[in-house]
Amino acid sequence: MRPTRAIVRLDNIVHNLGVAARLAPGSKNVPVIKANAYGHGAVEVARALAPHAPALAVAFMDEAVALREAGIDHPLLVLQGPSARSDVELAAAEGFWLMLHRPGQVDWLANVRLARPVTTWLKVDTGMHRLGLAADEIPPALARLESRGNVHGDVVLSTHLSRADETDQAFTREQLALFQSLTLPHERPRSIANSAGILFWPEAHAEWNRPGYMLYGQCPSNTASPSGPTAELRAAMTMQSAIISVRDLAPGEGVGYGQRWRAERPSRIGTVAIGYGDGYPRHAPSGTPVWVRGCRAPLVGTVSMDMITVDLTDVAGADVGDEVELWGEHVPVNEVAALSGTIGYELLAGLTGRVPLTT
Ligand code: PLP
Repeated sequence: MRPTRAIVRLDNIVHNLGVAARLAPGSKNVPVIKANAYGHGAVEVARALAPHAPALAVAFMDEAVALREAGIDHPLLVLQGPSARSDVELAAAEGFWLMLHRPGQVDWLANVRLARPVTTWLKVDTGMHRLGLAADEIPPALARLESRGNVHGDVVLSTHLSRADETDQAFTREQLALFQSLTLPHERPRSIANSAGILFWPEAHAEWNRPGYMLYGQCPSNTASPSGPTAELRAAMTMQSAIISVRDLAPGEGVGYGQRWRAERPSRIGTVAIGYGDGYPRHAPSGTPVWVRGCRAPLVGTVSMDMITVDLTDVAGADVGDEVELWGEHVPVNEVAALSGTIGYELLAGLTGRVPLTT
């Protein structure tokens, strides 16, 4: 079998949820496990987290249904809510919680007769301008929802922060102030914070928080102090492969498609069995680190579909069969992402189906 795999530490994910809980002791957490739990395996992560959280969150109904089919019977919050009227009945039957983000979804839930009421969150747009009700849509939505008996308990009022991971705090302050003014009159439970909100914005901690990226041991901000609360997080994934071939190059010889890197000295080049077909970023430049035999070695040349090449000249004894960490404990996924012009979220969620996950 090919030596490439993503090793997932479920215990680290549980630990990271504990960090979120300690940072916001007054809040309940709904761990976000959409996009296959950010590439970590939604079913396994759901099993690991369910004993520690009142509900888990996915992006859309299909993800929730897939988890039910895999035997996960925990409450599941569907962050984009129903995609069709019939989804409301499905949610009631399956015990899904619905986040409603536009009046049309409110109508679907208000106008149906349900055997079981549905736990309902309402999303409010406080400036992200992606999803959510406008200020004047909130009171009628609450009135309609709560007069029909289809809602279980209080409607939770929720919003999403668009710049909580940045050093410039002005816009987050505006969002928090607006959310406060829009929701205070309604005296309903609230939810604001994603990972950045939990880590950097205590004033965003509310009845419910929604941690995602931090659960996987990653910091949502590249500018955050490494000694801050993120220092407690433990990376949950090690993306691992191995050297499948080595060769010695003379100065001036090029490597890979387009010969985009050339040896400047006698060089020992190793070929590693991972490429963009696995989700390793095609745009990772020469110099992007990998971890082999206890040291960092630089990627050299263009990333291929199934392989990358690395410069092993300074790695004593490196040879075929050596394990290589592409990201994980020693090479932060955020570092690989930043060098490749993207964010760690994209690399984790972009792992392809041909990479086996092992726990
Ligand atoms: N809440 C909502 C509505 C989201 O869409 C997301 C993810 O995008 C999260 C929470 C989790 O965000 P993060 O992974 O940054 O913690």
